[in-house]
Amino acid sequence: MDDLKIIIYDVEHGSCTHIITPNGKHILVDVGSKSDKSIVDYICNRYFYGRNGSIDALIITHPHEDHIYDLPRLLERLRPKVLYRPTEAFDIKPSSKTPIHINIANNANWMNSSYKYPIPDTDNIENPQVMGGVKITHIPSVLNLHDKTDLNTFSSLVIIEYTGIKFVITGDNSSKQLKYMVDNNYCGIRLLAADAAVLLAPHHGRTGEYCPDFFKLVNPVLTVISDKSVEHTTQEESSSVYKGIGTNIDGRSRYVLTTRNDRNIYFSVSYGQWDVKFNEEY
Ligand SMILES: [Zn+2]
Repeated sequence: MDDLKIIIYDVEHGSCTHIITPNGKHILVDVGSKSDKSIVDYICNRYFYGRNGSIDALIITHPHEDHIYDLPRLLERLRPKVLYRPTEAFDIKPSSKTPIHINIANNANWMNSSYKYPIPDTDNIENPQVMGGVKITHIPSVLNLHDKTDLNTFSSLVIIEYTGIKFVITGDNSSKQLKYMVDNNYCGIRLLAADAAVLLAPHHGRTGEYCPDFFKLVNPVLTVISDKSVEHTTQEESSSVYKGIGTNIDGRSRYVLTTRNDRNIYFSVSYGQWDVKFNEEY
């Protein structure tokens, strides 16, 4: 049996998670990037031999720029076959009126209007037979908590399970959104997200959005925080807040890994075991 690979890239203050299934499907959850170095170019060179091709699916948790920064490059080089996104969050406005930002927003709005639902069975990421035995669940945000002035309220959640090992990937969900999901067992989240190996912390680990009920449910061994140098005071304490079960890595007890300190973080999963490596830049 081949491994499931999950890579959380160091994209500074942004988010990009790459799932490679045992049968070779490539899925991205968000496509944030460093502004001076394209994550799509890296993925293309490392996994597609530098040739342009296509990834099997892109999930946009929500269309804030730090989650879609490299979308124009993705369309150019690795155009996704299918797109999952919160359609209600579009059309989006550019974060500023400079060509690069206008281009990102235009590409995102174009994708939202061009990629159609429903997704054909043969491309459905939620079908484990298509995904080499990996169960992926895409949980959309709660409709009655949507607020167009705050796109974070549209963030979806992605739960990945393979040989009994779970990863919970959150967008920039607010603690209110997460608490609602847990309290109401929204989309069966209480069973789906319980007792994960790894949590990608909501909203880049900001303690202001820490949701105790959600964290207790997920009960992760490790939490990953995707961020860059400390900019917000709420970031400083995230490591102590997100203290899960913990594991020994290279002789040290670790509870939290951050892309800021640990760079790209590579997980592999097989036969009910998982492994992590990090400290590599892209
Ligand atoms: Zn974000």
